[in-house]
Amino acid sequence: MPDVPTSWELSREEWEAVVLDDLNRPAMKDRQRVIEVLMIRDGGICGLCKTPVDSGFREPHDPASPQADHIIEKSYGGPHTWENLRLAHGYCNKYRNNFPASVAVPEEVFREAFEQAVHRWENPHVYLPRAIAWDEGLIAEYRPKLAAAERELRKLVMADGDKDAITESARAVAHWAKLVKSAQTHRATLERRIAKHIAKGVTREK
Ligand SMILES: [Zn+2]
Repeated sequence: MPDVPTSWELSREEWEAVVLDDLNRPAMKDRQRVIEVLMIRDGGICGLCKTPVDSGFREPHDPASPQADHIIEKSYGGPHTWENLRLAHGYCNKYRNNFPASVAVPEEVFREAFEQAVHRWENPHVYLPRAIAWDEGLIAEYRPKLAAAERELRKLVMADGDKDAITESARAVAHWAKLVKSAQTHRATLERRIAKHIAKGVTREK
């Protein structure tokens, strides 16, 4: 078994004993615990890109955080059992979800995706501002569409227009409002992350 990059408090022997015990039971619902067990059983290697998973990435939404991947996806009836679970990077798991279960994605593709994710993670000063600029572009694109949809709705209501047309128009307003809101929320999240990285002193590429 390769060295598991681990920050757990138990010794390797203790973990293995606990894991063997766990693996004889049905897979648990406790996400963190399942990942801990998979981390040991799979030797700390992502089942998708075959590179080490760093247990130091513990925030669930960090791209390289360890996750439990269902080999046969849940949406395709894959069970939540140890046989059907494997360790994966969050990013690889997410990337895989873009493909139907029957499509085999080449390992190189996962590896490249993983490297990009890590590079993004390690260079927040490069990628976060770019991501924010992207969000701002979206907001600039959606806002006029929202304004136009609102004007259209107002016009229909004022003219006491057709009920169906008003419903349809209100739906368009809600659609654009939702897109604006979601880009704004995403931007705010990224800004908080930048603030966090600046506080940690991660501001420049070495
Ligand atoms: Zn991976």
